[in-house]
Order: sequence, then C-alpha cells, then structure tokens
Amino acid sequence: MREAKGGCGRPLFFRLLYGLACALSLGCGSAQAQPDPEGASGWQPKALAHAQRQMVAAAHPLAVEAGLQILRVGGSAVDAAIATQLVLGLVEPQSSGLGGGAFLLHWDAAQARVRSYDGRESAPAAARPGRFLDALGRPLPYHEAVVSGLSVGVPGLLRMLELAHARHGRLAWAALFAPAIRLAEDGFPMSPRLHRLLSGDRHLREDPAARALYYDAAGGARTVGERIVNPAYAASLREIAARGADAFYGGQIARDIVAAVRAHLRPGDLALADLAGYRARERAPVCGPFRAYRLCSMGPPSAGGIGVLQILGLLERSGFAMAMPDSAQDWERALHLYAEAGRLAYADRARWIADPDFVPQPVEGLLAPAYLDERAALIGERSMGWARPGTPRGAPLAWGPGGESEAAGTSHVSVVDTRGDALAMTSTIESQFGSRIMVRGFLLNNQLTDFSFNPEFEGRPAANRVEPGKRPRSSMAPTLVFGPEAVPAAGLRLTLGSPGGPAIINYVAKALVGTLAWGLDIQAAISLPNFGSANGPTLIERGSPWEEHGDALAARGHILSFRPLTSGTQGIETHAGALRGGADPRREGVARGD
Ligand code: GLU
Repeated sequence: MREAKGGCGRPLFFRLLYGLACALSLGCGSAQAQPDPEGASGWQPKALAHAQRQMVAAAHPLAVEAGLQILRVGGSAVDAAIATQLVLGLVEPQSSGLGGGAFLLHWDAAQARVRSYDGRESAPAAARPGRFLDALGRPLPYHEAVVSGLSVGVPGLLRMLELAHARHGRLAWAALFAPAIRLAEDGFPMSPRLHRLLSGDRHLREDPAARALYYDAAGGARTVGERIVNPAYAASLREIAARGADAFYGGQIARDIVAAVRAHLRPGDLALADLAGYRARERAPVCGPFRAYRLCSMGPPSAGGIGVLQILGLLERSGFAMAMPDSAQDWERALHLYAEAGRLAYADRARWIADPDFVPQPVEGLLAPAYLDERAALIGERSMGWARPGTPRGAPLAWGPGGESEAAGTSHVSVVDTRGDALAMTSTIESQFGSRIMVRGFLLNNQLTDFSFNPEFEGRPAANRVEPGKRPRSSMAPTLVFGPEAVPAAGLRLTLGSPGGPAIINYVAKALVGTLAWGLDIQAAISLPNFGSANGPTLIERGSPWEEHGDALAARGHILSFRPLTSGTQGIETHAGALRGGADPRREGVARGD
C-alpha cells in the first residue's frame, strides 16, 4: 500500500544521485517535479565546509556567526554553543530557545572524557498521570494539549548551559550574550523558512506578544527580509547575562512565565517553586560500538542514544552491506534491513524508555551483544510488519508502552574548538513555536506532550506517563563518534545530531551509516535521502530516488509512506588532520570554521 507516489525530485543532490542511479540502470521512468520537502525552507544544496582549527554547525547562519565570533576570541566549544543557542532563540524561534530544554554531549580532548548533560524540561509538582485525558478519560485532541498551559514543562536549557559553562567555559558568561543582544536590538532579517512556518501556523497569531512581533496588522506573517526587532528578548538576555540563570528561575522573568501559563485559555499549573527547584543533571553517556568506532550519545530520559546504537548494532548483525550499494537489488536490501532494524529499536523505545529517576532503565540490557544477536535474528527477507518489544536483562516487567505523538520544533548545534574539545547539543521547544505562549520575547515549550497521554496500558502503568517532577521521554540524539580503533590514540571522528521528533533516531543513524560505513563525507551523508521505520509504515523521503524501490519493498511486505522527512542534521568530522562540516539541505543551517 502507498500513501503517495512521485517520481524523481527536484533537489540537486537527488538529481545527481538519481542520475547516478540511472547510469546504474535503476530505471528512470515517471520522473516528475515534486514539491519542496515540507519544513518550509525547501532544498538548499550545501557544499562540504572545510576548516583547519575550529568550526560551528547550526541551523542558521547568524547563529553560526555568533559561535565563531566567540571561538575567535578564545572561547571554548561550550562558550560558542551558548552564543549560538542564544541567537537561535531569536532567529529560529520555531525550534528552540530559553523557554525549552536540551541535551548536550561534551568531549574534553585533554582528559579524553565524554560527559552528557540533561536540561530536559520537567513536569510541575502539580502534574498528575491523567493530565492529557478529558473528563471521560479519553486522550485530549493533540493540538488542544499542545496549545495550552498544560503542555509547558519547566524550561531546562539555561540551567544546563550554566552547568556546562561552569565546567567547560573559558569566557565570562555575560560575554556570550553580546551577539544575541545586539541582533535582538538591531533586528534580524526574516528568513524564508521562518516566514513560511509563521504563515502556516494557525495558533501562534492568537498570542498577543507573538502577533505583534511576527505578524502585520492584518494578521499576515511579516515578509521575507523584513527586519524583526525583539527588544523584549534583548531585555531578558541582559538580565540573564548580568545575574546568571537565577534571573530566569526566580524574579520577574519567572513570575511572568508562571502568569502566562496560568492565564492561558487552557491554563496550566506551573508554579514559581517548580522553576526555583529545577536542576540540570550530568548523566552517564550511553556508549557502544559500530564497526571500528565508538559512539557516545544521550541516554534516558532520551531514547536517542539507545535507539541509534541498537539500529547500528542490528545492521551489523543482519548482513547489511557496509559498502555503498551499487545495484537496485543492493539498495532495496539496504532499505529493507534498515527499516526492520528501526522497527525493533522503536518497539523497545516505546516499551522501556522513560525518565531514569522514575523508571528503572535497562540500558545495558538493551545494548548487550547477546540481546542484539537475539533481536537481529528476527529480521528476515520479508518485513515483520509491526515489531514487538524484547525483554532485555534488567527490564522492569511492570511497565507498559504509551501512546505518544511528537511534533517537530528542534535544532542541533555541533562545535569543535581549537583545543579539540567538541560538543553536540540538540535543543528544543518540542512543537513548532512550542505551546505558542510568548513571554518576554521567547516562546514556552510544549514538551509535556512528549509524555504518554494514556497513563496505563492493559492495566500496567505506562513507563512514560506524567508524574510530578518527571522528564518526558525524548528522541534527541546528540552524538559523538571516536576512532577508528586501528589508529592509535584516534580521537574525535564526528559530532552530529538532528531535529525531527521520533524520526531523529533514523536521521542520525542514517548519517552515521553514510559516513562510518559507506565512506561518504559528512555533507553527502546528511544529504542522503531519509528512510526507515519507527515501527509504523516504512518511510521514504518524498521526491527521492528511493521511491523507485517502493514496488520491491512492497513485495517484501512493507507498508510504504512517502513523506517529506525534513531532518535538520548538522555535523562536523575530523578528516586528515582538519575539519569538515555539513548542514542539512532541507533547512537553513550552515557549517563554517577557520
Ligand atoms: N520533543 C522531541 C524530542 O524531544 C523533539 C521534537 C523535534 O525533534 O522536533 O524527542
């Protein structure tokens, strides 16, 4: 069955790849122009970026510029990421910002140590498991839950950045705010992607502050190139620059956040004590092998690291070709195996992963070689359709799966500095424009809709149900790669990550297959069409050459869905003693360095 079907897409990389496919006799029939991928910026071909010493890759050129400025005056990777993030909150407000949360992986080259930081939003103390059920016990319609005070979790970004800065910062905290304050006061040009998302969003214009900032008197989105000045954001930044994150978690900013959440048409229950009590956490990174490399990514409450490592581990065990396929049959087999590995990984994610402070997490069991062997043996020549979760060692059997639905409002930053320190940070307000509640120039998240709406399943509590103080499960997978083993003292190989809701796991794993198995450079690996399964239909990027394999995959029992699959992957790799960077052609990001 197919949800949609098209021929070869317009984007340049796809056309080149398709040309290659034609040359390889994959068949070129039914080529027709496809609409630009969803996600609003269309396809912008990106060239591989080169640098010798330092590099920043992020979702907007102005944010990358801010990060580079900081690196050039001696800032560390964390310093640069903070400056980059503060500009992203201004110029890419649909995706991340002060009102949201993030996960950060850090590599200290001198100490040869990876650390991971959790700045995930948490549920207010007043939150209860039935938060997203109506009076009859039915899950609320998704948009009613999102555009609501109920979806707003305690923002974790600033506390996490403060913690990372205390450990790894070199420049003064306040200095990192200067580029974003200047841009907020002088204005930045409306980008095509922001304009398109603003135009298409039904809810944001209902918020008076957002309406005044982004829309004209008639309610139309301000035009591409129009200068957007955000003095309220600049004022918030000035306070936080001067007084630290305490200025956000207490005082007038905190009071304004709480008031806005409680005054919403569908009010929430966030309290000043929730903000005052929020703590960012350092957690053990989740690490594992792929080929001769060692990967480290984010562990619970994110399912990202485990999911990526499971997919790669399953591919290694299921006869997946580690050389780039060069025939139609090889491509079809690669897509089949990748989708099946995804099914198994996402089945475990849905069943087991939640906040480790509330639900015991069988992390080792899920990545144990014997468990992956057992799971890989389930992959056959035909699609298994819907995968059941496994029972890894240490799994608490009392928990059931949930029924989450996650949208796409997220950004990824990768940085490598002159000392060789690196970071991967994925940062989010969850849905595009989050809860659509604007306070003091930034938007509040709707991260609590990443919890299971159903608190139980077949009489068992859902692992990811709402509980007071709990952090919702994520799919974000900021990832660092080291090796290969054969090279003595080989250090950092890659830093990367992506937005994309649950599909993040598939996007990140795809880019890792592209670089670490198929030998593509980071840009080509990011540009590779997206595909995979989250244990639903087999997803194929609409307009990509992979569509041509639809019939063969359907013959193997795959239910197909052709979708835009708008990843936003950014990454930096070390190569021959220098740096190379890539940014997703599906969005507006860039990689630049010196
Ligand atoms: N809220 C999602 C998560 O944490 C991310 C949404 C997105 O990528 O846009 O997994």
